[in-house]
Amino acid sequence: MRRLYLLCLILLGPLLTCRAHNTVSVDLTIRPENQTFACRYELGASFGQARGSCTFNLNRKFRLAQASSPHLRDYTATPFFDAFQQDTLLRITLRFESPVRHEKITLRYGGAIPERFRTDSLAEFTASANWLPNLPDHEYDLVRYQLTVHTPAGYEVISTNEPRRARAGTFVFAGLAPNIELTAVAARRFTRLRAPQGVVRVYKANGAPHHRDSLLLRDATAIVAYHNRIIGRQDPIRRFRILLPGTNRNAFGLLDNCAVITYSDFDTRKPADLLILAHEISHKWWGWGRWNTRENWLNEGFAAYSGLLYLRAAGDTASYRKELAKYRASAAQAPVSLLRFDAGKDMGYFRPVIYHKGALALADLHARLGDEAFFQLLSATAAARVATTEAFLRLVERHTDRATRDWLVARLSS
Ligand SMILES: [Zn+2]
Repeated sequence: MRRLYLLCLILLGPLLTCRAHNTVSVDLTIRPENQTFACRYELGASFGQARGSCTFNLNRKFRLAQASSPHLRDYTATPFFDAFQQDTLLRITLRFESPVRHEKITLRYGGAIPERFRTDSLAEFTASANWLPNLPDHEYDLVRYQLTVHTPAGYEVISTNEPRRARAGTFVFAGLAPNIELTAVAARRFTRLRAPQGVVRVYKANGAPHHRDSLLLRDATAIVAYHNRIIGRQDPIRRFRILLPGTNRNAFGLLDNCAVITYSDFDTRKPADLLILAHEISHKWWGWGRWNTRENWLNEGFAAYSGLLYLRAAGDTASYRKELAKYRASAAQAPVSLLRFDAGKDMGYFRPVIYHKGALALADLHARLGDEAFFQLLSATAAARVATTEAFLRLVERHTDRATRDWLVARLSS
């Protein structure tokens, strides 16, 4: 019986683990001279269960020209306030003639490139621009994609990976990545930095190379090496890109081995900037918790603590302690525990709870377990792409004991 069970596992294992991904084909035309764009987004969706409608969220400033699909009856596009993003988005709802399990849906839209995502000769289509239609609550679902970008001659397009094809005016990228992370940065010129045989590449749009960029490359390389030793033991970073569009807005890390740092004065000699870099690179592993729920602590709490771990390992224990003290002061202001955080009403405490309480709980777990047991747990969590607190607690119990799990539940409830 046991042998039969094992045989079944061997035969079925690959089938069970091979999940079908939705397919996405995007055709993006960027017109930097008048700061507009046009996009055709085509989703090959499998719904699991037959359904009579499908909804997408999109940046409300874009104009939806057309929605179409083989079984479409009608569609609406109405603005709504998204409590998590604290922004009004466009909710596109397609209703089908009859329930469908699979559907190829095409959305055509365009408009002005938002001001925060462009400069004179640069256009940034990245995760923080909401430039792609997303299925609500499935923004980070992996999709098998092809992204074709058209630009005027004289522009180059950089993404999270190398183009499959590139010739004057047309760049084609493909891969498996979260829908929200499909990336195209178009500029007249990119400066490339890479150490010989280095894992990290830096792409700086337009501006002249600066000494700070070389330091960024050096520090990012050291961070990737450290994170691979601690977090990525089972799933290491083999290639990593840092995009510098110079749009001066924010910094964010992608699951798809890439970070976007928009600050033009970013300087890793400052501990705060080095911490941002170590945090963002660690998002290569920390991004599977649903972003608009308390499970986001599995992304931001873990990334915050990963950044701190690097500061400490790099010898800057003063900044490490100072940051932890800041987190403690911030967490003390939040009257809600991590396990009781409700994104519907507690968004005012998002950072103190999701980032700071999350990181502090990990710091305490680290102190309880010691370095080696904690790092084993961290790398197992990363490799398992843990997406829920319950799954993390199960992993904690498997790697330690029931008492530690119970202790952590109590810790996350405070
Ligand atoms: Zn983060």
